[in-house]
Amino acid sequence: MTNDRSRTGPAGSRSRVVRRQVAMVFDLNKCLGCHTCAIACKTLWTRDEGMEHMWWATVNTQPGKGTPRDWEKMGGGFRDGEPLPGRLPTLSEFGEAWEFNYEEVFYGGKGNRVHLRPQGNPSWGPNWDEDQGGGRYPNCFYFYLPRICNHCTHPACLEACPRKAIYKREEDGIVLIDESRCRGYRFCMEACPYKKIYFNHVRKISQKCIFCFPRVEKGVAPACARQCPGRMRFVGYLDDPEGPIYKLVRQWKVALPLHPEFGTEPNVFYVPPISPPRFDAEGNIDESKPRIPTEYLRYLFGPGVDAALETLRAEMAKTKAGGKSELMDLLIVYDWKELFGPFRRDPAEIEPRKA
Ligand code: SF4
Ligand code: SF4
Repeated sequence: MTNDRSRTGPAGSRSRVVRRQVAMVFDLNKCLGCHTCAIACKTLWTRDEGMEHMWWATVNTQPGKGTPRDWEKMGGGFRDGEPLPGRLPTLSEFGEAWEFNYEEVFYGGKGNRVHLRPQGNPSWGPNWDEDQGGGRYPNCFYFYLPRICNHCTHPACLEACPRKAIYKREEDGIVLIDESRCRGYRFCMEACPYKKIYFNHVRKISQKCIFCFPRVEKGVAPACARQCPGRMRFVGYLDDPEGPIYKLVRQWKVALPLHPEFGTEPNVFYVPPISPPRFDAEGNIDESKPRIPTEYLRYLFGPGVDAALETLRAEMAKTKAGGKSELMDLLIVYDWKELFGPFRRDPAEIEPRKA
């Protein structure tokens, strides 16, 4: 894998000043929880030895403990511009890579009397609490939260690295690790409040999402976005007024960063989930309070969530009444190419590099 700074700037350059910033918007109202994004990423980038437990693109059920387990309580990030202490997630908190009884099932001659079972006694996995959710019957709720590295404007991982192995590309703001400089100290893992850096125990280096930069450089959207059947991942530049990112983040202000209080200024933004109606004690529909508690959404996406939900509901009401809404058209995505701003090229058009 090329996760290499030689193509991007002078060694040791840690400038956070970027000419442009690529970003993604995830519309949580459209995520199916299918994990196609996670598999697309795994297949492309994390199949080598030492990467078994790595899922650079994860999808967790909210409310839940996530990946790694209870990552939101592990610290890191900044307060008032000052770094906060963080701790290293353990391999078991990530969920390790489970082994199954393949031999017995496929070659043991026992027919359908045996089934695939995890070996050992795993106590966590990337999707351990999938579809559990929260709330009390009949007002239970859940939604999916896909996550990647946020390619932050103020990356805590970069500031924490004494080897100057982490850098932010000037041309597009992608945050990368120079594997040739990394010595595996893991200060970046402690510092990242999103816990989106993984340790390769075989190569003794840190690794993370690279925003599919070799694809992006060729005008192709990252694999997680391109493969998403929910069409919920928008990609583009933050400063492109014609692109979906600018429109959702800056113009309509319906896409918000996850945990903005972590202080790293993430460049992945979320359209918050709109609740179904609640039921009252008699089982009647109660529209007075949303099923997903707004406090919980504020906890995740900050105080801007109230205004974002209000805008979304107002624009939905327009279309329900038979009117037109530019925002709803943008979010529906009638043509998949509208998702990707300038990154619409078909990867099949690109000639493979000769060995
Ligand atoms: S999410 Fe974490 S790893 Fe990614 S740029 Fe931000 S601080 Fe660094
Ligand atoms: S591929 Fe898309 S719809 Fe499926 S889990 Fe990932 S983000 Fe959600």
